[in-house]
Amino acid sequence: MTLEELRPLLENLIDPSLDKTLKETNGIKHLGYDDKKDVIVLIVAMGKLGDIEEKSLRRRIARLVKIDCGFSGLKLQMEEIKVLNSIARSKIKFIGIISGKGGVGKSSVSGNIANRLAKKGHHVGVIDADIYGASMPTILNFKHEHPHYDDEGKIIPLVKDNIELISTEFFTSPSEPVIWRGAMLNSMISHFFYDVKWNEKTEYVIIDFPPGTGDITMDIKNIVPQTKMLLVTTPHPSACHVAIKSGHAATKLGHEIIGVIENMSYYVNPVNNQREYIFGTGGGKKIAEELNCELIAQIPIGQSKTNTDLFDITETQGRIYDEIADFIIFNTNTNE
Ligand code: ADP
Repeated sequence: MTLEELRPLLENLIDPSLDKTLKETNGIKHLGYDDKKDVIVLIVAMGKLGDIEEKSLRRRIARLVKIDCGFSGLKLQMEEIKVLNSIARSKIKFIGIISGKGGVGKSSVSGNIANRLAKKGHHVGVIDADIYGASMPTILNFKHEHPHYDDEGKIIPLVKDNIELISTEFFTSPSEPVIWRGAMLNSMISHFFYDVKWNEKTEYVIIDFPPGTGDITMDIKNIVPQTKMLLVTTPHPSACHVAIKSGHAATKLGHEIIGVIENMSYYVNPVNNQREYIFGTGGGKKIAEELNCELIAQIPIGQSKTNTDLFDITETQGRIYDEIADFIIFNTNTNE
């Protein structure tokens, strides 16, 4: 048996302290093999250590690895995911928006999806985790204000039209570049995920991730709880390679790619009403096949009537975003 075969079996185990599978809590933090000692090396994070529940999970892991799967030894380290507790127990559905590279429209897509979900009457949160390209406040038309904190020190997001937003933009002055690195960045992003006081009615939280597979992106993808992800790309085949890499990287960290969105797919020439595929064709389809998920939308090039980043339902792009919102609602309800 290989590690790839062992991983899903481990992920199926229930963390009894949270009543969720280790896949849902993203509880498998490391899975490796020490060939000198011939043992499986495993780090598992669970909701609460020190109780009977930890003993029970340890026993089930040992049984799975050694008896059911036949590995000769196991070095198991358990960690507590205190900060994850509140979020793992909450009913909020996290939807990550990722891309292989910048400039493909990931933030525009995130903002428009949040807008359509809100227009359908849902309470939506948005985490602008694209640290170095934070643009959600502009796309969603928020004023630059510092958020307040509640009595427990949790950040209260800014709110507008049923959308709650948290962004690094709110913690820096408007023209100041973000220069956080390493530990400081990690702690900032952890705050965004674990120390935010969302409205009690909040159902969906859209996360605008940084592009690519660089260290920061990977750190952020590792901090967040298990998330369903949509991957945004342009149709050009050259964009495929990096998008596929980004998709695989997310899956490796325990996230699930539920669909691909091809943006800037074509331009409708106003002279003859014909579609012109100025950035090529086939990129979205190829990525969806490679990642074994659905190509859920092809969004044309164009500006909104109001010249803002948000499209109205009467516009082609607005209708497509509305369908993507329906896809999210459907795919987060049926998989529970
Ligand atoms: P990313 O988040 O991937 O870096 P952005 O959402 O910031 O990308 O988009 C990059 C630029 O492309 C922005 O100026 C945005 O308005 C524009 N853009 C995005 N999607 C489209 C589209 N379908 N048609 C025309 N312009 C678009």
